Amino acid sequence: MVDYQEYNTYQKPSWCPGCGNFGIWYALKTAFHELNLKNHEVTMVFGIGCSGNLSNFIKVYGFHSIHGRTLPVASGIKLANHSLNVIATSGDGDGLGIGLGHFIHTCRRNIDITYIIHDNRIYGLTTGQTSPTSPKGIKTKSTPFGAIEVPVNPLALAIISGATFVARGYSGEIDHLAGLITKAVRHKGFSVIDVLQPCVSFNPQFSYPFYNPRVYRLEDTNHDPGHMEEALKLATDTGSDRIPIGVFYQKERETYEEASEELKAGPLINDEIDNIDISPLLERILNS
Ligand code: SF4
Repeated sequence: MVDYQEYNTYQKPSWCPGCGNFGIWYALKTAFHELNLKNHEVTMVFGIGCSGNLSNFIKVYGFHSIHGRTLPVASGIKLANHSLNVIATSGDGDGLGIGLGHFIHTCRRNIDITYIIHDNRIYGLTTGQTSPTSPKGIKTKSTPFGAIEVPVNPLALAIISGATFVARGYSGEIDHLAGLITKAVRHKGFSVIDVLQPCVSFNPQFSYPFYNPRVYRLEDTNHDPGHMEEALKLATDTGSDRIPIGVFYQKERETYEEASEELKAGPLINDEIDNIDISPLLERILNS
């Protein structure tokens, strides 16, 4: 087994003490250990925000992309080398704001990557503005009179857009979250985990005292993740005082890589490119 410490970098995390990102960091390393993944067998893609700082603290191949663009970068990496385990992470701000279109298209393509949303319901790095998952009415620096819009529902959106593994985790339950990440990486197809991640500095109303008494595990109920209507009902039940965590929905469906004729032959990076002559193509372009 790969030692747990092998996924640490020389840098200590710089998140605020008590930040929910610590729980996600631990859970990822626990899942990698459980899956016995060597550092070079994983590529992570990060967005911009407090979640993106994870790129400095976890020792796997990584690409720190730009705001909201983790999924297209992760998709490109997976399509070039679909033998890699590719994991994209982003915050609710970049992933469900500017990156929302990419989210929907990655769901419907069912590319075999895992997507972890660090959902703290606020823009943390910029010190507390309303994000796409902030609740209606929340007062922040950007909405002093209360947010007018209703929030984006990432789980419901993922289910109806075609994602084939949709789960909610909580960074206050690290072992449970590690189990979800392990399942998501093993799942063939696009797997989404929306993680309730307290931002203790800029969204203290959604911190551990709020979540701890409310979360419950779907494994302890008779929920059937193969039942789409049940999953949607749970995902859209935002009025309840109790918050389910676990796998909401899971389904087998052909992945993008399996459906693509070019990729069926093997990863693109294995293609022989030494003897490719592109001069006729260049000539045609230059003369057109
Ligand atoms: Fe975590 Fe919030 Fe601090 Fe960012 S600002 S590191 S999300 S507690």
